[in-house]
Amino acid sequence: MKLNDKGLLVVLSGPSGVGKGTVRKALFDMPDQNFVYSVSMTTRKMRPGEVDGKDYYFVSREEFEKRIEDGKFLEHAEFVGNYYGTPLDEVNKQLDNGKEVILEIEVEGALQVRDKVKDAVFIFLVPPSKEALYNRLKRRGTESEEVIQERIAKANREFKLAYKYDYIVVNDEVNNAADRIMAIIRAEHAKTWRSIHKYEELLDMKDDKNKGDNK
Ligand code: 5GP
Repeated sequence: MKLNDKGLLVVLSGPSGVGKGTVRKALFDMPDQNFVYSVSMTTRKMRPGEVDGKDYYFVSREEFEKRIEDGKFLEHAEFVGNYYGTPLDEVNKQLDNGKEVILEIEVEGALQVRDKVKDAVFIFLVPPSKEALYNRLKRRGTESEEVIQERIAKANREFKLAYKYDYIVVNDEVNNAADRIMAIIRAEHAKTWRSIHKYEELLDMKDDKNKGDNK
């Protein structure tokens, strides 16, 4: 299979509470999409309503560290006292099947993916304001004030790294944010270096050595 027949790896980051999960669900509800969500592994405690194997694979620190040693993660990071990581095998399998794989991960892990997967697309989701972010974390009601403050401090550190992403999308309204992300994904697919191999015959470039070089 040619590289460009593979699905797109889309990395979605943004501070805790910005609404990544909600935007992702809105994307998955759109017609004619081919997305799969990469379920991460974590050592954090399960929140009420979360399902093991669907929201995360919940494991002990010991098990997580063993998997790090065995090279089973595409990336992993520690976030406010817990490990989070992307299982490598599943991502590769889905990309090979032509699926668009969405990773919803924090910045440190995203930068590891940046180094390893050169053709991935990086999107940073921002809240309309800092107040909106605080109110969302507070409303979620799943964390203590202390953890909320830690997550806000972490958010401020993450904002400083947004410039490393390919796109910044504001989550003012969930469906608008999802529409913007869909537009980005469509445009990425149409990029010449990703798509020209499909048109070799039409464009008379069977023997052209430069095809697809203009990334
Ligand atoms: P939460 O505890 O709120 O579910 O997640 C905390 C942060 O960890 C969020 O920013 C979330 O996107 C990020 N996260 C979730 N899964 C992964 C992962 O596999 N790798 C990395 N690096 N971050 C993740």
